Amino acid sequence: MKWDYSGESGPEHWVQLEQDSECDGLHQSPINIIDVETSPGNFLGKIDEMIYEDETTIRSITNNGHTIQYNFDGDLNTMEYEGKKFKMIQFHFHALSEHTINGVRYPLEIHLVHHCEETDSYIVLALLVQQGEPDPTFTFLDNYLPIQVGETLEINESYNLGSKVSDIFGMDSVDVFTYEGSLTTPPCTQDVLWIVVKNASSASPAQIEALQTLMPKNNYRDTQEINDRDIHHEKMRELF
Ligand SMILES: [Zn+2]
Repeated sequence: MKWDYSGESGPEHWVQLEQDSECDGLHQSPINIIDVETSPGNFLGKIDEMIYEDETTIRSITNNGHTIQYNFDGDLNTMEYEGKKFKMIQFHFHALSEHTINGVRYPLEIHLVHHCEETDSYIVLALLVQQGEPDPTFTFLDNYLPIQVGETLEINESYNLGSKVSDIFGMDSVDVFTYEGSLTTPPCTQDVLWIVVKNASSASPAQIEALQTLMPKNNYRDTQEINDRDIHHEKMRELF
């Protein structure tokens, strides 16, 4: 049986559905981040370089039945972490958000997935989105919608990821939360550094709805136990 977000194949059954998954591990994601319980951290200090190009290519868009995913040629957009190269291979959406901050769940969460081939580990940058002013980036992304379940559109069009990332991180200082967790979908692999941006960006209700209606209702996993982990707060500023 294929995993899903509700019913008999919902999150509480993932560990039975996916052989050898880590969905019952002790360092799972997402989590509820309680601001006052975080401590200063230094994961970002281990990032030597972040490069997001102005001219990058969206290779394709997929509706895999769990999310809408924009796939990239990963070589251009990279993060170097402890001497290892992590390539930004795709971003995708969850509605409502997976991470909650002080118990608050947002309408949308974007995951920019960076993968290191050498170590098969991940760094995921999580952006929370609240309802507000329309975001031109979303308008651009929405141009390719709708896309139906099981469909993949070959796009091969230029996308200015660099300007989007610098919109988010170009400010004087950007507060983020960092912690070690897992992929939030089976096999729930536990080799993921999470960087969750504290302040939500905004998109219009129509923009949020355009994505929401194409994805399973509530395609988020419930927040997981923190167990023995420390959740940190840091500033992104040092990198730019
Ligand atoms: Zn995700």
